Amino acid sequence: MKLCRFDEDRLGVVVGDTIHDITPIQDEIRAKARYDMKGDAVIAALPEYRAKMEEAARTAPTKKVSEVSLLPPIARPCKVMAAPINYQAHIEEMAAQPHVTGADKVQRPTGIQNQGIFLKANSALVGPGEGVAIRFPDRRNDHEVEFVIVIGKQGSRIKRENALDYIAGYTLGLDMTVRGVEDRSFRKSCDGYAPMGPYFVTADEIPDPNNVDFTVHVNGEIRQDAHTKDLIFDIERLIEFASEFYTIYPGDVLFTGSPPGVSEIHPGDVMRCNCDLIGEMSVTVREAE
Ligand code: MN
Repeated sequence: MKLCRFDEDRLGVVVGDTIHDITPIQDEIRAKARYDMKGDAVIAALPEYRAKMEEAARTAPTKKVSEVSLLPPIARPCKVMAAPINYQAHIEEMAAQPHVTGADKVQRPTGIQNQGIFLKANSALVGPGEGVAIRFPDRRNDHEVEFVIVIGKQGSRIKRENALDYIAGYTLGLDMTVRGVEDRSFRKSCDGYAPMGPYFVTADEIPDPNNVDFTVHVNGEIRQDAHTKDLIFDIERLIEFASEFYTIYPGDVLFTGSPPGVSEIHPGDVMRCNCDLIGEMSVTVREAE
């Protein structure tokens, strides 16, 4: 099942290019959820509500995907985790340009094992329909298209053999980045620097998340052509690693790291992210006000 959020906080089941509007179910789930819950109420309720959602979708009012503005598919992740340097070829491309990354000024430990997972501000999340506003047009701003895990249930110190049980599904993300010497979480948390979408795809549709192709084109030209088999920490290890340090909650998202091919983007550019198993989203770049 594919879910999307769209327009004014509406929830839909996506079939082909049609959205079946099941917002009344979202209202019901949220009405029962505690305000102080950690995590996203809709994702937490999926085990109980999935069949109801599919049933409701059959008779729900519909719209075409092209008629709506897509929001990030998860409304309220408790945290937005992101893996740094998780593809060898990306490590090499960045090592070749230390003046861009600030590595000529600031020493950082090498390897994801030593750098750990970083957090992006939840307020940086946007949907494809909202686009990205470049906050510092005088600095280098890069796209990093990433395969994104959506956590499905609460867990801590999860072992790799059980890791996939904690996944609700997947989506695509752009870990937008201002290059420079500041801490990652600061440079990657500008408003709009975490586009996510187009849809949330339940885990049963992607039985082997370590075997997924995805791409980003900028203005029609391919920039990142990736495969999750090239991850240094694979999907299970990322969940094991993250949950060694903190509890993960339903709706938490984990950007799995940037493949090689990052490049500078400018206002006016269009980033088109594609994954056959998830969908396609176009994200327009503009200058911030
Ligand atoms: Mn990244």
